Amino acid sequence: MLAHKAEEEGIYAVEHMAGQKPHIDHNLIPGVVYTWPEVASVGRTEEQLKDEGVEYKSGSFPFKASGRARASMDTDGVVKVLADAHTDEILGVHICGPRAADMIAEAVVAMEYRASAEDIGRMSHAHPTFTEAMKEAALGRHWRPRLAHLSPSANPTLKRCCPFHRR
Ligand SMILES: Cc1cc2nc3c(=O)[nH]c(=O)nc-3n(C[C@H](O)[C@H](O)[C@H](O)COP(=O)(O)OP(=O)(O)OC[C@H]3O[C@@H](n4cnc5c(N)ncnc54)[C@H](O)[C@@H]3O)c2cc1C
Repeated sequence: MLAHKAEEEGIYAVEHMAGQKPHIDHNLIPGVVYTWPEVASVGRTEEQLKDEGVEYKSGSFPFKASGRARASMDTDGVVKVLADAHTDEILGVHICGPRAADMIAEAVVAMEYRASAEDIGRMSHAHPTFTEAMKEAALGRHWRPRLAHLSPSANPTLKRCCPFHRR
């Protein structure tokens, strides 16, 4: 259903015909909706994890608290990171907000290499960039005090503006 999925499958088919042993993880094909704000996700949703009985943790960060988003006056949306409750492996990333279609690539790389949320949280992200929201969402899983600068009014706004934010 997506051009980049078709691209990967085309390469898979040709490599298979050439006798190679290609691999596609369809769980790691990102989905993108080019609306405004954009929506992008990869991996499993909370609903899927619940159905599968997987214990997970969730961290999220609102663009309302992002310096770059505020400077760009584009503050609607949130990044949500879902990770295994025991191993910390990232299981899903869901973004609604500015540059979501570009930002999801970091999540795909992380999940291809089976990174933990802490791995993302400990990586340097340039400031001010939208991608800092990914780092902060990953850190949010660990309840690190860096989230203390969130304004108290942020969460009600988040719940209104993004279907992914159900906490
Ligand atoms: C308007 C529109 C906008 C889109 N926007 C996006 C987007 O923004 N992002 C995104 O990721 N995806 C988008 N898509 C979806 C994306 O284009 C498709 O998922 C992707 O092109 C599918 O690739 P495919 O190779 O499987 O099929 P196709 O690209 O449909 O290629 C199939 C080819 O096979 C040919 N063919 C069919 N039957 C035969 C036959 N019997 N013999 C010989 N040749 C045949 C067709 O002519 C065609 O060239 C969009 C689709 C549309 C229609």
